[in-house]
Amino acid sequence: MAARDESTLVLFDVDGTLTPSRLIISPQMKQLLQRLRERVNVGIVGGSDLPKIEEQLDTKTIGEDYDYVFSENGVVAKLHGENAPAQSVVKFLGEENLQELLNFVLRYIADLKIPKKRGTFIEMRQGMINISPIGRGCTHAERLEFFELDNKQGIRAAMVKALQEKFAHLSMKYSIGGQISIDVFPIGWDKTFCLTHLEPGKFKTIHFFGDKTSPGGNDYEIFSHSSVQGHTVLNPDDTAVQLNQLFFK
Ligand SMILES: [Mg+2]
Repeated sequence: MAARDESTLVLFDVDGTLTPSRLIISPQMKQLLQRLRERVNVGIVGGSDLPKIEEQLDTKTIGEDYDYVFSENGVVAKLHGENAPAQSVVKFLGEENLQELLNFVLRYIADLKIPKKRGTFIEMRQGMINISPIGRGCTHAERLEFFELDNKQGIRAAMVKALQEKFAHLSMKYSIGGQISIDVFPIGWDKTFCLTHLEPGKFKTIHFFGDKTSPGGNDYEIFSHSSVQGHTVLNPDDTAVQLNQLFFK
């Protein structure tokens, strides 16, 4: 077999790209990624925290399985299995701004009338604040129900607009991610943040595969980044089809 192409990196979003939303990767996809890794560098870039990504990718040895693992968009990163120094959104905002933002969100959700609410409306992560109008404690069925309603009523889009207006001074970005939540993080800490970990010039080609590549989606910035070749996928099956076309023909 030909030697691995060390000048190419292929990056993948997790949710909706490698796995069905919130669910676990299929054995076939896992195998396909390992086959791909025999040919090129393979990296993962997800908005979730590292334990969640490990769970979704069904591995306890994520640093060994992939060349690069960027959880929370790369705010927490493993480079060839080594931990990179981590950033923090709490440090970035400071307690006063942070509380102003959280208080606004709690009040906004309290005033929101939707068919169902569950628990965990705000989840503090290292590199972002995850806000969910229904609450992250909802079941899979409730999640799908909310997602459908949100597509019709723009619940999250309206909340993003309110946040943008209220906190224009904070240099924060509000991004609709997954099915039930909004990710809030410093401008520039979107998925392109992971690229800052890469040695300049190391890769001639960087591919990115994601399912939310339209403006406003959480893959948009990296998808449209000038040093990245972006690929839009419909779902994990489509990712497999496109990978086969690109790398295994
Ligand atoms: Mg996705």
